[in-house]
Amino acid sequence: MTLDNLFRPALSQMLPYAPGEQPPPGSGIKLNTNENPYPPPPAVVEAIRQAATGPLNRYPDPMANSFRQAAAEALGIPGPEWILAGNGSDEILTLLVRGFVGEGQKLRLPYPSYILYRTLADIQGASWEQTPFEDGWKLPAAFGNNSDDLRLVLLPNPNSPSGTIVPPSEVKKISDSLTCPLVVDEAYADFAETNCLDLVKQNERVFVTRTLSKSYGLAGLRFGFLVAQPHVVAELTKIKDSYNCDAISIAAATAAMGCKDWLANIKTKMNATRAAMQTRLTAMGFDVTPSHANFVWCQHPSSNHKAIYEYLKQNQILIRYMQFPDWGDGLRISVGTDEQIDTCLSTIERALKS
Ligand SMILES: *Cc1c(COP(=O)(O)O)cnc(C)c1O
Repeated sequence: MTLDNLFRPALSQMLPYAPGEQPPPGSGIKLNTNENPYPPPPAVVEAIRQAATGPLNRYPDPMANSFRQAAAEALGIPGPEWILAGNGSDEILTLLVRGFVGEGQKLRLPYPSYILYRTLADIQGASWEQTPFEDGWKLPAAFGNNSDDLRLVLLPNPNSPSGTIVPPSEVKKISDSLTCPLVVDEAYADFAETNCLDLVKQNERVFVTRTLSKSYGLAGLRFGFLVAQPHVVAELTKIKDSYNCDAISIAAATAAMGCKDWLANIKTKMNATRAAMQTRLTAMGFDVTPSHANFVWCQHPSSNHKAIYEYLKQNQILIRYMQFPDWGDGLRISVGTDEQIDTCLSTIERALKS
């Protein structure tokens, strides 16, 4: 038998997930993966400095309890046992799929949305089904339908690539009708006006995931977390790596939870940039989807999206061209600094004229 035949069939058959391009730092304007254009809070940088001179010869706290305590207080969650820390929220999503979706079973996601969930199902030898959003990015009631093999439903909220949000009252209806758990992926919730944390308290089948990658400017650090009822956290703890978060990221994430004013300021500043982007893109003839996240989804009725993306790339500006089979394509532009956005949008204006 060749080595290729020794991999699990699920692995041989799956396609790899392609993350957004990560060119070397300093090589242009990067608006393609929804990172924060601003550095993390100074208190976080100081905590990292201190952790770097701490006992790095010792393993970290396996449960990141300092972080759990700080996060419970910051978010008004009943206690630290409602929180599970992870190496990015992508790790938390992996744990959830490993914990709930077995070989031959199924998960559900809306469409178009975050396609990493499909990869996570593929790894399990499981399958996935996509429920198309209705017009105006509304969720159809069918998103809450049950079937025997359906074991997990995932909803990015705010959604990517649209930046739209399903109101908590609608999410509640979906979760009430489902017999399997509903994961509300709140990677972008810090830029929105509502979230689903309260639903976790009301329903043991509702889980919320959060990340420090976007709003806190810590994508390079890798830290995310789950909010779920304590018995869910306890079960998932069995399948995580013993030391899934390192001492430096735990220190940084703990400090970040104390930076409420910093977060409020970043939200105000970035949402103002977002509003200006939306206005100017609309003036340029784009159909702009009103965003509740740190990016804007737009489509131009009479221009080639791929060509605009390529033109920007030639000018060292990276945005995301996204194409969804049987649905359509468009451009997703992360909220950058005002200067970066000005350069990006001026370049798009030139692209439209060329
Ligand atoms: C960015 C993103 C994540 C991943 O966050 P990490 O904590 O960096 O792993 C999860 N879900 C969605 C919808 C995202 O856009």
